[in-house]
Amino acid sequence: MSDCIFCKIVSGEFSSFTIYEDDDFKVILDRFPSGDGHSLIIPKTHVANIFEIDPELAGKAFSLAVKIAGALKEAFGITDMNIVQNNGPLSGQTVDHFHIHLIPRRKGDGIKVGWKPTDPAEEDLEKIKEKILGVLGK
Ligand code: AMP
Ligand code: ZN
Repeated sequence: MSDCIFCKIVSGEFSSFTIYEDDDFKVILDRFPSGDGHSLIIPKTHVANIFEIDPELAGKAFSLAVKIAGALKEAFGITDMNIVQNNGPLSGQTVDHFHIHLIPRRKGDGIKVGWKPTDPAEEDLEKIKEKILGVLGK
């Protein structure tokens, strides 16, 4: 994708602080991080989001997240981390090239990743469950 910033980072046209690279992925420091060590796992092939990625590649991406999380844990002596993966503008995705955020958490860091819990009736949860099972069961 010619106008994709992450494709340009993968090709080397744009610079990045690369912390890991293999045939399938580049892992870089986020340029506007939540804090030290905020990293992004980026597939080398352009794929927009979770709805388009090949499940096997997604599996490799999340497996790599385990490796990078361990490295960040050791490098920064942190024990807490959010893994964030946004899909679509409503979710906060700003770069339409699939990526996984690794966000080290530290006491008092002020980072907000969350939602407001609701309290649906059990019958509503049952209906929602059936709706999803109707698709998964196809
Ligand atoms: P998202 O909002 O989930 O799409 O995340 C996109 C992330 O890419 C943001 O956290 C940005 O700070 C980061 N970002 C944008 N441009 C660059 C860049 N040139 N190099 C590294 N990270 C970037
Ligand atoms: Zn791209």
